Amino acid sequence: MTTVLKIIVDNHAAKGLAAEHGLSMLIESGGRRILFDAGQGDALENNSRQLGLDLKHIDALVLSHGHYDHTGAVDFVMQENPEVQVYAHPAIFSERYSIYPGKDAKDISMPSEERLIVGNLPDSQLNWVKAPTQIAPGVWLTGPIPRLHPLEDTGGPFFEDPEGQIPDPIADDMAMWIETKAGLVVVCGCCHSGIINTLGHILAASGSSRIRGIIGGLHLRNSSDERLHATVDVLRAYAPEFMVPCHCTGTLATDFFKQNLKTEIHPGYAGFELKTGEPS
Ligand SMILES: [Zn+2]
Ligand SMILES: [Zn+2]
Repeated sequence: MTTVLKIIVDNHAAKGLAAEHGLSMLIESGGRRILFDAGQGDALENNSRQLGLDLKHIDALVLSHGHYDHTGAVDFVMQENPEVQVYAHPAIFSERYSIYPGKDAKDISMPSEERLIVGNLPDSQLNWVKAPTQIAPGVWLTGPIPRLHPLEDTGGPFFEDPEGQIPDPIADDMAMWIETKAGLVVVCGCCHSGIINTLGHILAASGSSRIRGIIGGLHLRNSSDERLHATVDVLRAYAPEFMVPCHCTGTLATDFFKQNLKTEIHPGYAGFELKTGEPS
């Protein structure tokens, strides 16, 4: 079974495509077409047209978590395909702010229009994911990821109130994994649970012992050196064949991976395509 992953929206883009701070990927696997996240603004509509990708015929829309840069174009997706099955965790509707020292609180919640659209979907179309769930042959969502590693945090000054009193655990954060003969391909949105926690949870839930590849945002922009070293140690032990860090991973972390891992590292961008055919 060949799986094809295409990045449609990312902070970086191939020539002729729009870049924006956001993420959206199309995954075709086992005869199913899954849109993983919906970017922030117009890039999803623009780039899917430029790339000749028809979102009218997708089977599932997965929202990795309820931040504005992953949910902004849900209205476009639902216009294209009003029947699409939606998968998310109920905490996507949380109020959320990022508050950097000396700066005003920034509202980074899922936009209100998108919240209304998802909130009004019938039960038959809205699938709350609270545990590992298979959504297509060989394609699974993690559900909430236990936060076990002492050095991993959500990756930023995230709060549920504009005063910064209530830390936001981003409990809705989830990843996806795809089974291939050579191991699991892991797809992350922002990875607010931390990649060490995410991979540990996926291996435990899947019963697999092999991570073949990782694609997506790893939110290591604000990471301590200590955490980066711990991350590299764990990745070295798992020895994935490839990694496609993109979106919020940060160039510092990406360069650190390149310097310290034998894994093939391909920084992702809108227009990037990955085929995971079976190895010969
Ligand atoms: Zn993000
Ligand atoms: Zn996020």
